[in-house]
Amino acid sequence: MSTQIILPRMLQVGENAILATPNVLASLGCSRPLIITDKMMVQLGYAKKVQDVLADQDMQADIFDDTVPEPTVGSIQAGVKRVQESNYDSIIALGGGSPIDSAKAISILGKFGGQMRDYKFPRVVSEAGLPIIAIPTTAGTGSEVTRVTIITDETTDEKMLCMGIGFMPIAALVDYNLTLSVPARTTADTGIDALTHAMEAYVSKKASLYSDTQALQSMRLIAPNLRRVYHNGADKEAREAMMLGSTLAGIAFSNASVALVHGMSRPIGAAFHVPHGLSNAMLLPTVTAYSIPGAPKRYADCARAMGIATQQDNDEGANAKLIAELVALNEELNVPSPEQFGIDRAHFMGLLTTMAEQALASGSPSNNPRVPSAEDVIVLYKKLWP
Ligand code: NAD
Repeated sequence: MSTQIILPRMLQVGENAILATPNVLASLGCSRPLIITDKMMVQLGYAKKVQDVLADQDMQADIFDDTVPEPTVGSIQAGVKRVQESNYDSIIALGGGSPIDSAKAISILGKFGGQMRDYKFPRVVSEAGLPIIAIPTTAGTGSEVTRVTIITDETTDEKMLCMGIGFMPIAALVDYNLTLSVPARTTADTGIDALTHAMEAYVSKKASLYSDTQALQSMRLIAPNLRRVYHNGADKEAREAMMLGSTLAGIAFSNASVALVHGMSRPIGAAFHVPHGLSNAMLLPTVTAYSIPGAPKRYADCARAMGIATQQDNDEGANAKLIAELVALNEELNVPSPEQFGIDRAHFMGLLTTMAEQALASGSPSNNPRVPSAEDVIVLYKKLWP
């Protein structure tokens, strides 16, 4: 059996990759990009830096900085209008997963119109929107190399998963220097998100030798460096490893799918406005413990790739170490429980059925090594509470 792999046409990876923006644009035949970003990227001077490197090559770029964290249908409308009313030939998506996902949605809606809901999974979006050059600033969602965008419908509090080659950036510039400014909390949340991508891609029912290779290498890069970047954001060596690990994890899951953690995480994010990486982190130990019986050898491989178990450990021993490590990681990275995050217990319990339905409808849980029923999902959600 063969597997189809979808990737950006061009990747520029390493320190100062951002300087290659004009070359990359020129080689794609583009000269009039719109930078889609957020206010933080403007404040940090990153948007101006992109404009400046383009200006050096006589290219001009406008900035749209009205994207919001965890983008919604409403939040992307101004960007769609901007693209429809102008003659941009490309989009530079600069920022964390939120601006990149916003840019992906704007690229498709700006060119083809309609509502975001029309493009929701299980529809596969293969239309080519405006070409996107993605420059991630977190490590991370991996959105720069995924054929996925996630847009929340604020009228139903649903994080809509939208998939297809139409959402794959044509190029990605992966420059770890841009992550040196990420605050500790976001560093932790986005880092656990990337680790979750790698683990879920590896245990996914859709995993292949190709995605396994990316996923295992990603875990080798992320696991020993996540604590380092959390405690010392200026640690360049660790930031570089995290950034590449995040991109590899994105490649792995985009070509193998995520699984139950992500399926259950999106409804928490949508209903209680928990950042994506954080809701993954809240779920990862509990959902991993539930899932291990479905693929004990695969999870043991994860423990070994993460360097917390050795070849001498049998699978059972390695998996016990894996759970202990995921719990310890959350403690050291100060990941709050839903209660500590400030979620109202009664509100959470009242939404259990809806959240379980949304989790299963997203399709991700069916790729889990152990496929849960709606009742199982509810039991797992309840386990997040003492
Ligand atoms: P984010 O983009 O929401 O950014 C979080 C915060 O960090 C923002 O305030 C942002 O301004 C700030 N920030 C980003 N980079 C920074 C930097 N270099 N220095 C200082 N501050 C910085 O966070 P994220 O976790 O990268 O993205 C989350 C979004 O990505 C969610 O909407 C999630 O659903 C989506 N996501 C998408 C995919 C995909 O494949 N498309 C995968 C996973 C998650």
